[in-house]
Amino acid sequence: MTRHLSDEEISAWVLGERTPMQEAHLAGCRECGIRTGRLQAALSGFRESAIAWAAREQHAVPVPTAPRWWQPRSQWLLAAAALVLMTAVPAYRSYSAHLSAARERTVLDAAEDTALLNQVDTQISRAVPGPMEPLVPLVAWNTDANDTHKGNNETNR
Ligand SMILES: [Zn+2]
Repeated sequence: MTRHLSDEEISAWVLGERTPMQEAHLAGCRECGIRTGRLQAALSGFRESAIAWAAREQHAVPVPTAPRWWQPRSQWLLAAAALVLMTAVPAYRSYSAHLSAARERTVLDAAEDTALLNQVDTQISRAVPGPMEPLVPLVAWNTDANDTHKGNNETNR
């Protein structure tokens, strides 16, 4: 290659598009070497100033950290759990006490019911109600309706 590199060829060579003929010309031509070196220096200066500007203008962005158990949101969660426990445990205790009391009451009620039924049964099985029993000897019973009472009446006389 006898002619010098054009501006476009120098730009392409600086950007990496190089042919063996250009390489051979640049190895022997001082003028093209100076022009290529000047463009490379300008580009590298631009690159360094752009990096410096970016580093200078870059603002620190706060990176959110993972919440830890002692941070406020977790503290609210723990407080809510404690509140639930504080209300649930006494409620459960009173409920179980209520259950056992109800069970005892049921047993007592059953005993009272049994006693009442027995009392009613004995009163029903009587021929005459208890308060009227002293009057039984004074009453004349129908003879064919109830022989046992008649017999009792006769034995009482
Ligand atoms: Zn040249």
